[in-house]
Amino acid sequence: MRALRLRQWKSEPELMEVPEPTPGPGEVVVRVGAAGACHSDLHLMDEFEPGTVPWNPPFTLGHENAGWVHAVGDGVRGLTIGQPVAVYGPWGCGTCARCRVGVDPYCENPAGAPVPGGGGGLGLDGGMAEYELVPDARHIVPLPDGLDPVDAAPLTDAGLTPYHAIRRSWAKLPPGSTAVVIGVGGLGHVGVQILKATTAARVIAVDNRAEALRLATECGADQTVAAGPTAAEEIRAATGGRGADVVLDFVGADATLALGVAVARTVGDLTIVGIGGGTLPVSFFSVPYEVSIATTYWGSRPELVEVLELGAQGLVRPKTTTFALDDALDAYRQMRAGTLEGRAVIVP
Ligand SMILES: [Zn+2]
Ligand SMILES: [Zn+2]
Repeated sequence: MRALRLRQWKSEPELMEVPEPTPGPGEVVVRVGAAGACHSDLHLMDEFEPGTVPWNPPFTLGHENAGWVHAVGDGVRGLTIGQPVAVYGPWGCGTCARCRVGVDPYCENPAGAPVPGGGGGLGLDGGMAEYELVPDARHIVPLPDGLDPVDAAPLTDAGLTPYHAIRRSWAKLPPGSTAVVIGVGGLGHVGVQILKATTAARVIAVDNRAEALRLATECGADQTVAAGPTAAEEIRAATGGRGADVVLDFVGADATLALGVAVARTVGDLTIVGIGGGTLPVSFFSVPYEVSIATTYWGSRPELVEVLELGAQGLVRPKTTTFALDDALDAYRQMRAGTLEGRAVIVP
C-alpha cells in the first residue's frame, strides 16, 4: 500500500510503497477514510531533531484519523468489519491512573505505551496511508449515525483538542460571560463552534488574517477583532472593561500570550493550546488576580465520544479542504504558506 512517511527529522515526508499491516492479538486494522493534516506535523518536519521527543522516524504521518474496520486480531470483540470508526490518537499504557479514565495524553507510565508520549502518526505509523494498524481495540471509537469518516477525522484532534480546552472551563462560561479565541486556524475555528454549541458565552475571535475572521463569523463568533496594537483595548471595551472570562490561545506566540493576559478577567482562565513557542512572564502584578494559566494537550477518550456526537448532530462541523494522498505534500505547502482555509484532510 502507499503511505506518506517521514523518513528522518528536518525533511519533507515521502510517498512510498510499504507492506499492508496485519493485526496481531488485540489489534485492529482500519481502512483509512480520511486523515487530517495538522499544523504540528510541520513542527515534526521542520524543527524536531533527535532528543526533542522520545521517538524517531521513520513513521507514516497522520494522527487524526477515521475510516472503517478492515481486520481485527485475535481476542477483539464488539467490532464488525466495515463499521465506520474514529481512531483515538494518543496511545498511552492503558493501565495507569490517567489511562484508566481515558486520559491517555497524560499517561503516567509512558515506558509502558506502544510509543512513549506519541501514537499513530507520532512515532508509530499513522493514517496517511490506505490502512492504519491500531495497537489496541480500546482506541477504536464507533462513529455515531450521521457522521462519515471525512467529517469525523478532524474531530479527533482539531475537534477534540479545543473541546477539552473549553470543557474544563465550562463553569466559568455562564450566560453573560465572554470567551476569546485567539487564532482562527484548524483548531480555532472549531473552538468557536464548540463554544457556541456548548455554552451561552459571547465569543470574540482574534486573528491577523481577514479571511480567518470571516471564517470565525461563519462559525458563529459574535465579534471579530483584528490582531494588532489596539486589539486588547477593543476586547476590553467589548466586555465593559472587565475582560474575558476565558481566553483560549490557539497560537501560543509571545504576542498572543501577551494579548491573552491583557484581556483576561480576574478569576478567569487563560488556556494555551497552540505550540507557538512563546513565553509569558508571570509575577504577582503581571496577571489579573486569580487568573489560572494552563497548557492543555489533546483530550480524553470520553470527550472524543462527546465531540463526535456534536459532529453527528451537525453542531460542530470543521471546515475542510480534501486532498488525495498523491497531493498530501500540497496540503502541507498551503498550510505553511497560510493559504489553507480550515483543516486539510487527506482522503487516501
Ligand atoms: Zn495535531
Ligand atoms: Zn498510562
